[in-house]
Order: sequence, then C-alpha cells, then structure tokens
Amino acid sequence: MGMTRQECAALDEADGLADIRHRFALPEGVIYLDGNSLGPMPRHVPARIRHVVETEWSDGLVRSWNDAGWIEAPRRVSARIARLIGATEDEVAVADSTSVNLFKLLVAAARLRPDRSVLLYARDDFPTDRYIVESAAEVLGLDAVCAGPDPDALIGALDERVAVLALTHVDYRSGALKAMPRFTAAAHAAGALILWDLCHSAGVLDVGLDAAHADFAVGCGYKYLNGGPGAPAFAYVAGRHLGVVRQPLTGWLGHAEPFAFAREFIAAPGIDRLQCGTPPMLSLLALESALEAFDGVDLAAIRFKSRALGDVFIRLFGERLGAHGFTLASPRDGELRGSQVSLAHPRGYAVIQSLIARGIIGDFRPPDILRFGLAPLYVRYTDVFDVVAAMDEIMARGEWNQPRFLSPKTVT
Ligand SMILES: *Cc1c(COP(=O)(O)O)cnc(C)c1O
Repeated sequence: MGMTRQECAALDEADGLADIRHRFALPEGVIYLDGNSLGPMPRHVPARIRHVVETEWSDGLVRSWNDAGWIEAPRRVSARIARLIGATEDEVAVADSTSVNLFKLLVAAARLRPDRSVLLYARDDFPTDRYIVESAAEVLGLDAVCAGPDPDALIGALDERVAVLALTHVDYRSGALKAMPRFTAAAHAAGALILWDLCHSAGVLDVGLDAAHADFAVGCGYKYLNGGPGAPAFAYVAGRHLGVVRQPLTGWLGHAEPFAFAREFIAAPGIDRLQCGTPPMLSLLALESALEAFDGVDLAAIRFKSRALGDVFIRLFGERLGAHGFTLASPRDGELRGSQVSLAHPRGYAVIQSLIARGIIGDFRPPDILRFGLAPLYVRYTDVFDVVAAMDEIMARGEWNQPRFLSPKTVT
C-alpha cells in the first residue's frame, strides 16, 4: 500500500521545524515550492520596511547612515549569512548581485594564479555563471574551458593550466549536489583555486565552506534566504586570501577609508574590499529582517528535513506518477541531492501551469524539467503529498491539455 496523507501529517506533527512556517506570510490556499526562484516573505518584514521608509528615510534623512546604523548594515547581514554557509563573519560580504560578485571573485581568484591560463567551469551550470566566466576570461586574456558534467570528467580536466574552477554547488535543473570537500580538494591538488556558487544551497543545506577549505563563493539573497526580489547577494573569501585578494571593481566603498576621499585607491584591509558602491539600503534592510526567520534554527535540522522532504517526494512519485510518463530528474540518493526534486515530462510546461492554476507553485526549466524547491522552513510533508496527488489527478483527467496552459509566459 502506498504512502498516505495521514502518514505525511504524522511527519508534520513530529517535525521540529514545523512552527517556523508561521514566520512566513504565505497566502492562504497556496503550496509554495518555488523558494529556489523567489523565497516567500517573512511576516515581520513589512513592519521593518515601514519603519525604514517612514522614519529612518523620511525623518532621519542622510543622518540615518550613522544614526540608524545603515552604514554597518552590510556587516550585520554578513554575520547572519556566514552562520548559514559555514564561514566566519569576516569572510562574507553582502553586496551587488550574484552575477556581479562572480565577476569580482573570478578576477580576484585568477590574479592569485598569474602563471595559469584557464578558467574552468561545468558544462551544465547556470547560464549566468557560464556567461560571466567567459567574459572574465576575455577581460583577463585567459581561456574559459568547460568540462563535465560528470564529476570524474570535471576533475580529470584539472591540470596545471587551470587557475580557477567555478562550480555550482546544487545544479539548478536536476538538484544534483556536488561534493564540496571532494571538488575543493581536487582543485587544490591541481594547484587551482575553487569558487562555489551557492545560489541553490544557502538556507537549505548545511553548507560548510571553511570546513571544506573552499577559497571563494557567491550566492543569492532572494532564493532560499528569502530576502525579497533582487535582494543583495553575498561573496565569500576564505580568511587566508583576505589580505592579498584584489577584486576589479574598486569603488569607493571598498576603500580602506572611503570618507577620506583620497586620490589613490587603497583596498580595505579585510572583506570590505569586496564592496564597490553604495548598498541598496531598502533591499539590504529587507534582507536583514528576512534573515531573522533563521533565528534559533539549526543547520543540521534544516538538512535533515530537506532530505526527508525529498525522500517522501520521490517515494510518492514512484507510487503515483511513473505511470503518467514522469521520470525522476534528480538523484534518488539524498546524499547526492540538494533541497529540490525535479521531474521530467514532455508536457512539463503545461503540467506546471495547471498546478499553478490550482495554487501549487513550482516552476519549469527547458527542455522538460518540472522543479519543486523543498525549503525546510515552510514546506510541509503534507504539501509534498498534495502536490503529487494533484499531478496524479491532472494527468488522469488530462487537465493540463488546455490552450491557456500551453503558451509560455515571459518569466517562467
Ligand atoms: C539564481 C542564480 C543566479 C542568479 O544570479 P543574479 O545575478 O542574482 O541574477 C546565479 N547563479 C545561479 C547558479 C543561480 O541559480
């Protein structure tokens, strides 16, 4: 007999993170499995932003940079994110977007290996990562080389020409998780540096950058960190590189003394040299407030539930969806999977649209991938049950086969 909704309800009952869900303002009747694209809003954010706008900006004006602590906000947010990625707070900068941080860190990393000529990246990585690697290589006069996607091919491509290996920790399509310690050690054995993209890891996995001896990392503020659309991103530089690393976007806020307005650029002694210009304060303070949703939440509990949600999803998929032509596009083994389950189906786009029409929000990635992000802070085991049951019904009734579900929208 297959897994029942009651069994899922019992798992929710026993879930130590169940109460954290109340920290989020999720709309009634919606099951949200797209936190890997835009995290939901924590309940307490609007009050904070109202105060920022109506008091700190409106009344405080420029004085708020000092009086409301705006100028220290990047550091405060860094400290919160550092805990979630296994780093110390002096190794994390919060600034710019993931794409921009990638560029800054790729150049910074390559400059630490001046005798090498290759920036290596994985074949199936997220397009922005590929575009930025190619552009950084062009600017530096290096070669961008891709390898993989399988781990042995990637590791096999590490030779004495490789300056930097840039890798996404969790594949955005399949949810496959790359072993951070293994790849990091392999890069170092070849004399290269490694840069991890944590966009689909931060906030849902027990990321351990320091423990893995990683060199650099970037990640998103608006996905599983729930910082709001376009929230600032983060950049990590291992402590051992901080004194020597030179990033290319030497804006005034990365200066050792920005308010000395000196003629010559002297980089800030520590992680602040990763800053470029004035932070987007409304977004940054929304991110700071949103990160309070993680207060008191243990990373091991997050990882445990992220795996368990995926295991339940995959079990239900096996019991109910195989007959409808879905195949599993994620690793079955929880050790090898991030916090997402992806299925493949030739009608994937229409199936996702019919789910959305029922208030179940996942997303679609070409050519045929249905993605379901399983964020442990607010996704329930019964949500997973309900999604699979809905897909079973949608397929059995042919509900996906309607003109309104067949034509692509601008943002998928
Ligand atoms: C979402 C995502 C990005 C996004 O970059 P932005 O600069 O924030 O648009 C980059 N890399 C990966 C792997 C992502 O998943």
